[in-house]
Amino acid sequence: RIIMSMSLKPVIGLEIHVQLKTKSKMFCQCPNDSSERTPNTNICPICLGHPGTLPVINQGALKRIVKIGLVLNCKILPLTKFDRKNYFYPDLPKGYQISQYDLPLCENGYLNLKSGRRINIQRIHLEEDAGRLVHDQQNNSLVDFNRAGVPLMELVTDPDFQDGEEVRQFARELQLILRYLGVSDADMEKGEMRIEANISVQSAEAEFASGTKVEIKNLNSFKAAKEAIEYEIKRQTQRIKDGEQVIQETRGWDGGKTIPQRIKEESADYRYLPEPDLPSVKWEESSINQIKDQLEELPLQKRQRFVSQYNLSTEQSEILVREITLGNYFEKISSELGNWLKIKKIDKLQNVSPNELLANYLISNLLGLLRGRSTKDKDFLITPENFGEFIALIVEKEISSMVAKNILKEMFETGRDPSSIIKEKGLLQDYEKEQIEKEIKEIIKENKQAVKDYQKGKKSAIQFLLGQLMQRTRGRIDPRAGEKIIEQFLKK
Ligand code: ADP
Ligand code: ZN
Ligand code: MG
Repeated sequence: RIIMSMSLKPVIGLEIHVQLKTKSKMFCQCPNDSSERTPNTNICPICLGHPGTLPVINQGALKRIVKIGLVLNCKILPLTKFDRKNYFYPDLPKGYQISQYDLPLCENGYLNLKSGRRINIQRIHLEEDAGRLVHDQQNNSLVDFNRAGVPLMELVTDPDFQDGEEVRQFARELQLILRYLGVSDADMEKGEMRIEANISVQSAEAEFASGTKVEIKNLNSFKAAKEAIEYEIKRQTQRIKDGEQVIQETRGWDGGKTIPQRIKEESADYRYLPEPDLPSVKWEESSINQIKDQLEELPLQKRQRFVSQYNLSTEQSEILVREITLGNYFEKISSELGNWLKIKKIDKLQNVSPNELLANYLISNLLGLLRGRSTKDKDFLITPENFGEFIALIVEKEISSMVAKNILKEMFETGRDPSSIIKEKGLLQDYEKEQIEKEIKEIIKENKQAVKDYQKGKKSAIQFLLGQLMQRTRGRIDPRAGEKIIEQFLKK
């Protein structure tokens, strides 16, 4: 039976795993260090699952999950526990993963998309990561247990997404929130954040998801997640229109298409059992409130603050909120810029907002100079004070925007302050140059004797003329540059 008229609606739900940034692993004292390159360095009998060892809960990991849960509008369960999820895999030496089953730390939250559409969050729980299999060129499989026992957050959403773009937006915002909270770097390329997408297509008339769902793994970027979902929606839609069935399975993404990996096991296969070696976890109202009181500023709050406090456009604000280091840099410069404007007594400004101008130079010029390199953890050579002065000079119309670009490049490369670059290069606005030339003409007219002396070979006479110029320009130009210009005039 071929169904032609049926309108099919995609339904998508996510399972997201994120490695938490803690000092030690989830149940032992081994360092939690994802940058460790030597295999099997950060290991001990506990995370290797030796018989007779006892796990101890990492309290910092618990707190981080509660923090995330609070920010994502979840209910924090007052009593939770850990469970064993049993399965066999060579990177899982215990034969089970310590996870949470029926009593996760957080339940029933949500995160709103930019469109205002709400994505409900079923649960957020805490578990331990498994080790990693490394396949070498001789077709040997090696096991690295450095990752075994690293604290892992699992977040499960309701099947509330309508398309790949919504998934991309949600995942990006979640990543940003986790970074703002300082709980994870959530770098997808490093596997610190992993997305699994469940997709089904159903008849638009149905009241709830009824289509068979397919799970896609190996989505290691936001782009991959979006593209794989779009591909899978098309594939399933086509099958149904062709009168064929969608098989419940796990598929992978190879960059161009989804490919079958395995038929999905049922939840019951894991034979979850309460973890007998760990106590249950109780949350007092007071300790939850304490975490609430210490919450960091969130991306959404910062977006609004950047617009209201600095008069930025929403686009500028968005970029500075995403590029966290650049945003912090912006705020430091803005405060220095305020000082410069006071010093230079610039208060009435026509048509320019100094902060907007600053944001523009950071976004359009500085990011360009970085050539796509991430601003993460980057120390900028230009001090906020010098950058502030640079913007003040532009506001003051001391330098034109053409000249400003060259000065910024030099500042970026050398870290020098703008006024010394300007003085050295004589990079003043054109009308300033004209002004200087006018001054020199007058100086020459008024000091005929010194000019004659110079032309007779008394080179020191130029120092006198330069002194006059420095006085008239109140020391705003570099003496060496001034000397050169005077020399040019005397040779005429
Ligand atoms: P399972 O029992 O198979 O693990 P869950 O109900 O726990 O299924 O859901 C796992 C994930 O699948 C969740 O992210 C959820 O949003 C998503 N999901 C559930 N039903 C559907 C569906 N019909 N289509 C797409 N995704 C779904
Ligand atoms: Zn260990
Ligand atoms: Mg499930």
